[in-house]
Amino acid sequence: MSIQRTFSIIKPDATARNITGKVNAKIEAAGLRIIAQKRLLLSEKQAAGFYAVHKNRPFYSDLVKFMMSGPVVVQVLEGENAIAAYRKVMGATNPSEADSGTIRAEFALSIDANTVHGSDAVDTASDEIKFFFTEEELVG
Ligand code: GDP
Repeated sequence: MSIQRTFSIIKPDATARNITGKVNAKIEAAGLRIIAQKRLLLSEKQAAGFYAVHKNRPFYSDLVKFMMSGPVVVQVLEGENAIAAYRKVMGATNPSEADSGTIRAEFALSIDANTVHGSDAVDTASDEIKFFFTEEELVG
């Protein structure tokens, strides 16, 4: 067991439906602390750069467009085994495969409009946090 930080995005489908508080309640109920948070409208450069790992996938341009379609909330979450703990409460990428009680099972609309992003490993968590937050913004 170790205290980790992970990076989260509450996606435009959730801000459009005014359910960011409901998503945050799930995050906190899973034992994770929201130690940094801000609401942004992503530029094309930010959305395309953030998801560059998927640039050869057929869904890439739709994904980038969707992530720019409205405000997002970017967050840093902290807790025991935070990376795996958040992936568990997020649920599967495709909401039709997500376990009941997870964020995606309860709130996601489709595989595109799937409400949240969460880092999948220690190195990506660190890179993704640095993509959006400075050290000074992480006050614990
Ligand atoms: P995540 O870590 O569960 O968010 O999934 P990935 O990192 O693999 O994919 C990033 C995002 O791209 C997902 O959250 C989906 O919104 C989207 N995505 C992934 N796979 C597919 C797919 O097969 N089809 C479509 N339309 N979108 C996908």
